[in-house]
Amino acid sequence: MTQETADIIVCGAGHNTLITAAYLAKAGLDVLVLEKNEMIGGGVISREIPGAPGFISNPHAQGIVLMAANPVITRDELGLFAKFGLEIVERDTMYATQFEDGSFITQWLDVDKVCQSIAKFSERDADAYRRFARIAAKLLPLLSQGLFAPPTPLGSLFMMLDQSREGRFVLSQLMDSAYNVIDSFFEHEQVKLHYMHYVAELMISPEQSGTGVVPFLLTGLIHSVKPFHIKGGSGNLSNSLGRCLAHHGGRIRRGAMVEKILSRGGRVTGVRLKGGEEILARKGVVGSIHPHDLGAMVEGVDKFTAKQAAHVKLSNFGAFNTHLALREPPNYLGGAEVNNAMMVECVPMGMENFRRSFDELRYGRIPDYNNYDVACISRVDPTQVPQAGNASLYLYKFAPLQLAEGGNAGWAHIKAETMQRFIDGYTRYAPNMAGNIIAGYCETPQDMYEHNPVFKYGDIFGVGTFLNQFFSYRPTPELGQYRVPGVAGLYLAGPTTHPGGGVTGGGRASAIAMMTDLGIPLKNYFQA
Ligand SMILES: Cc1cc2nc3c(=O)[nH]c(=O)nc-3n(C[C@H](O)[C@H](O)[C@H](O)COP(=O)(O)OP(=O)(O)OC[C@H]3O[C@@H](n4cnc5c(N)ncnc54)[C@H](O)[C@@H]3O)c2cc1C
Repeated sequence: MTQETADIIVCGAGHNTLITAAYLAKAGLDVLVLEKNEMIGGGVISREIPGAPGFISNPHAQGIVLMAANPVITRDELGLFAKFGLEIVERDTMYATQFEDGSFITQWLDVDKVCQSIAKFSERDADAYRRFARIAAKLLPLLSQGLFAPPTPLGSLFMMLDQSREGRFVLSQLMDSAYNVIDSFFEHEQVKLHYMHYVAELMISPEQSGTGVVPFLLTGLIHSVKPFHIKGGSGNLSNSLGRCLAHHGGRIRRGAMVEKILSRGGRVTGVRLKGGEEILARKGVVGSIHPHDLGAMVEGVDKFTAKQAAHVKLSNFGAFNTHLALREPPNYLGGAEVNNAMMVECVPMGMENFRRSFDELRYGRIPDYNNYDVACISRVDPTQVPQAGNASLYLYKFAPLQLAEGGNAGWAHIKAETMQRFIDGYTRYAPNMAGNIIAGYCETPQDMYEHNPVFKYGDIFGVGTFLNQFFSYRPTPELGQYRVPGVAGLYLAGPTTHPGGGVTGGGRASAIAMMTDLGIPLKNYFQA
């Protein structure tokens, strides 16, 4: 049997690595993508809910925010819309917070409408929000620069920020916590909870130092780009990338688990698959490789780099998600305005319980704190349900990565009862759930890890979004420019690299790094 070869081997078919692969193939390279699963997409997939034909679930990513600002979307750089069948459904709200007492706040894309929603709780906070949004808009160009290209080195970024009053303000917020920032701007507890819950979607406690800039970045983004869903299901983003890759001559092998990245004389030479097959890479390898696995997986990697990578910190917690096929969509206590929000944060009253819930998560316990993050995309995209009026619901709850009792393996024992408990708790916010459920399934952090080795122990962003693991320090200072010391020609992509977890399309930056090293003129493929 002749040995398979390619110019570039791509390890993993998540949306990020597929984007990297598509740019490289478009530039004329012979690209081979190796994916361990039968389905491509990693965290950007869709599947039917078992026992409910025609009900599509999106097990992981649902709502897309950051990628809305990526030239892959704004300029259709890869032709996904024009040629490869990508369609999106844009939204005019980001989320609504439904409180247990029936009151709610809606995070519209329009600042005036957010202020009106906040004014129901506090006129003063409505004014504060207007001020906050103005600052966020002014800071956005600074904060979002280079999000989809290799990052400015953190040291230079800090030096640049230190040159102006606004820059120094950003720096001070960068080092503070989101909790302190939100607490200093707003007075009403429910307004504060509305923002803190959203910040916690980064899977870190808002009280963590170094999260202070997040509320500014999120607010700036919310009022400048339109978040969206992928029509027909999140998996259609990955599928359109697959079509783009194939159009440019790239290949995907499914069921191909890469166990080892091979190198000789300080240069990458190829990969070894589970089962022993070796594939040669003529020009390079790029992979979604978790930093904890770098030392064992990559031959010849610099020892200091591997040691640092092994100590990268995971997010503070993970998620337990439940997917339900419903006869009709949820009807929230707040009615139509909440029903129509892109995402609904279901939030109990009480700041103290909110704050304590992060300690419970840290100690491996599922908090009693009864909060959920819910999406029902089928309301705006009926192609995801068998008939108009049905609904496909995504119910997501923070969960410890490792259970105090039983660690990750412990999830198997409490999976079914936990799913039922969460559904019961959710009915307090959407009372029409009784008799409404046709079928459903859930995923524990362990299930997510088994699906995708990059979701380490169920960390949905691969590694934590802490300040010391951000920008050019993501995942470590040595690996922050996508290159791997000790192994020339090996590059990183995916959520553990800049700009981080979520559907960002950050694989564009990995492609820029590779094409720069390969001497391919960037201007032919990337618009400024
Ligand atoms: C429950 C959940 C909910 C989420 N919700 C959202 C959301 O609403 N919005 C949002 O923006 N983000 C969300 N995310 C995060 C988002 O899904 C991920 O950050 C994103 O998918 C990362 O994309 P990626 O392309 O970089 O890599 P991944 O999606 O991590 O894909 C990596 C791929 O590589 C494959 N692979 C890994 N190692 C190997 C190997 N050795 N050999 C072969 N193949 C390999 C994996 O099987 C996988 O297919 C969610 C994630 C989860 C788990």
